Amino acid sequence: MPDKCLLIVLDGLGDRSHEVLDWRTPLQASYTPHLDRLARNGANGLYHAGTLGEALPSETAHFAIFGYDRKEFPGRGPLEALGAGVDLSRDEVAILAHFAALEERDGCLALVRDVPQVEEEEVAALIRAVDMWEQDGIRVRYVPVKGVFGVLVLSGDVSPDITDTGPMRDGRFLSDVLPLVSKHARRAGPDGPDGTDGAESDEVRARRTANVLRAYLLHVWRTLREHPLNARRRGAGLPPVTGLVTQRAGRLCPVQPFSRRFGLRGLSIASGAVFRGLARYLGMDWQAPRDTGNLQADFAHDLAAVPGLFDRYDFIHLHTKAPDEAAHAKDPLLKKSVIEALDQALGNVEDSLLKDPDLLVVVTADHSTPSSGNMIHSGEPVPLLFHGNGVRRDMVDRFDEIHAASGCLGGVRGRELLRLALNHLDMARLEGIRDTPDECLYWPGDYQPLPVR
Ligand SMILES: [Zn+2]
Repeated sequence: MPDKCLLIVLDGLGDRSHEVLDWRTPLQASYTPHLDRLARNGANGLYHAGTLGEALPSETAHFAIFGYDRKEFPGRGPLEALGAGVDLSRDEVAILAHFAALEERDGCLALVRDVPQVEEEEVAALIRAVDMWEQDGIRVRYVPVKGVFGVLVLSGDVSPDITDTGPMRDGRFLSDVLPLVSKHARRAGPDGPDGTDGAESDEVRARRTANVLRAYLLHVWRTLREHPLNARRRGAGLPPVTGLVTQRAGRLCPVQPFSRRFGLRGLSIASGAVFRGLARYLGMDWQAPRDTGNLQADFAHDLAAVPGLFDRYDFIHLHTKAPDEAAHAKDPLLKKSVIEALDQALGNVEDSLLKDPDLLVVVTADHSTPSSGNMIHSGEPVPLLFHGNGVRRDMVDRFDEIHAASGCLGGVRGRELLRLALNHLDMARLEGIRDTPDECLYWPGDYQPLPVR
């Protein structure tokens, strides 16, 4: 039986059918002999990390892929903060924030350019002008992550239950910062866990947080509008960088480490602060994938390094965001060529890695990203394959969204993926057995021996 697992996540792989591909998906239209071989010798199915039809961002989908419940998800803001090396306390709220070109229109703020081109020194000057704010006992600080992107960390008696301001599409108005209704309404009932007082204070806290954040964002707008740097940019015909837009507030909560829950020493090889933060949050190690700009060579390099890493790890997550990025370019043909390059890279390790009798290989995606239309991500399921000794072999001979549907895994959802991986590693705990006080899903657990005295 396999005793180690390689999980390959091809970000945003799932797609829709496109006329330019004779109404096939980019994956369906791709020539992928190596992925197909894995599919032919393995078990196939369709996976969705949440609920069918739900369009998931990568971090939420990965949280489920790694075997965690949505209720334990801290929000993207805190994950990016962790990934950027910020030590957040349990009380602080972190919010994604980035510099954008804004203008006043009809008495409101509108987005002119969501992600303007800004030089490094210019960003540094903008940050210096607006990186601190304090009001009503709430402190706001801006922490840079990369380029115009950063995180706002709010300290004091704050709440993460507030709306976004970033509309993500040029030309749209920013949304106001408001306290979320649903969370407080849910707690306000007579059966609410916090009772009415708790509901009121939660609501008051969320409203105060929203008011302070709104005041800060208006302060940023007024300050940057007059900033000499923007006079220069206007003169050069560039959009002035006049504000910050925010998204996805959250707060850390205690979470059971990955190794404790699954008995696997985990490593995530994935680019970007959010993946680094997610790994840090779950107690997995993290390393950056190679990025020289040559996708096929980089992915082949990372795959070739995997066997050497299994000395220290039992579970390796290897992620590439290339299919997702190609889909965001709204170019089905580009996505097809990206998929074919990744498949070629996989061919390099066919003998050294994929035929290892002790290795379980799982290939899937975190979500679908349509190469046409307006949606950012979409809610169709993605193909999933398991390959390794003992894994059932079905009749599927191609790795794509359509063939996978007739595979023996059927529809796999959310946390089931990691449970299945644990199962194929012969580690799944027989339900009902309790050798540890906390919920460890593997067996035998890391239990405390019974002392004689
Ligand atoms: Zn993704």
